[in-house]
Amino acid sequence: MNPGRYSRQTAFARLGKAGQQKLFAARAVIIGVGALGTVIANNLCRAGVGHLRLIDRDYVELNNLQRQVLFDEDDAAKETPKAIAAAEHLSKINSEIALEPVIADVNSSNIEELIKDADVALDGSDNMEIRFLINEACHKLRIPWVYGGVLGSAGNCMTVLPGGPCFRCFVPDIPAPGYPTCSSAGVLNMAAGIIASMESAEAVKIITGSAEPNCQVFVLDVWNNTAEYVLLQKDPDCPVCGRGEYELLGRLRESYTTSLCGRDEYQVVPGRKTRIDFSEFEAKLRNAGNVSHTKFMLSFSDGRIEFNLFADGRAIIKNVKDERTARSAYAEYIGL
Ligand SMILES: [Zn+2]
Repeated sequence: MNPGRYSRQTAFARLGKAGQQKLFAARAVIIGVGALGTVIANNLCRAGVGHLRLIDRDYVELNNLQRQVLFDEDDAAKETPKAIAAAEHLSKINSEIALEPVIADVNSSNIEELIKDADVALDGSDNMEIRFLINEACHKLRIPWVYGGVLGSAGNCMTVLPGGPCFRCFVPDIPAPGYPTCSSAGVLNMAAGIIASMESAEAVKIITGSAEPNCQVFVLDVWNNTAEYVLLQKDPDCPVCGRGEYELLGRLRESYTTSLCGRDEYQVVPGRKTRIDFSEFEAKLRNAGNVSHTKFMLSFSDGRIEFNLFADGRAIIKNVKDERTARSAYAEYIGL
């Protein structure tokens, strides 16, 4: 570690050289590398957190550039997977730290493996289901995590420590499908930037132990000029931090399909572990339409069906209105 790189940070006495050493020895896992995750990854990379695992299931699109600060037009044109694009850009900013991009959909069967060695996990996701899952996994593995969420001009964040109160004390039930998302209600990059920076500060406080984390709910609205801390009490009846019951975790899942944040796109995830040989698949699909692949992804289009296929067998099927059509396209062309 070159100490000169961090001189303006170590001069902040409450962090200091001892805090910097702790940061360099630490591992942070960022779940979702989008509006929040790119800002968090940028902050923690520059701050010198020694190991960053960057997990994302998606690829870069033009409408991401308004708020996802690590990506550029070239990434969008190439549809580079977000985890890869983020790691590539960050490696030019700080070559002293380890960057571990993971292209995956975080689910109940892989989350424990993905976070088990983390000193802190950070929420960069865009949906409530994954936050419930992070909450359960982190409670079970006794890992501190930082929640963050933004919508429109508003955002929330809070730190969850292993003893609670936890995210479920704050949001008792997963909202019914149809709740507003960033594609329906929009999102301002300024709100995302502030919330993600507060999440990053929480991670640094947790890792260095030099200040109390914020375990209240911070609520901000950059359009209504409001910001407040709402005290969160531990709910003794909370299924997670009160009773230690995990409703989502380890629930074995068959193949599943998810709609992606209000787009006409569906993700289809195979029920079993697999490894795609892109060259083999490209040869198989060559007569059916236009097909090409990179190291990370295969892209296919026949003018009707269009999809991106990842090495783990997941595919994002484009321009489809419902799950059934997505699944039948998957069965027709990929068929795992
Ligand atoms: Zn709780």
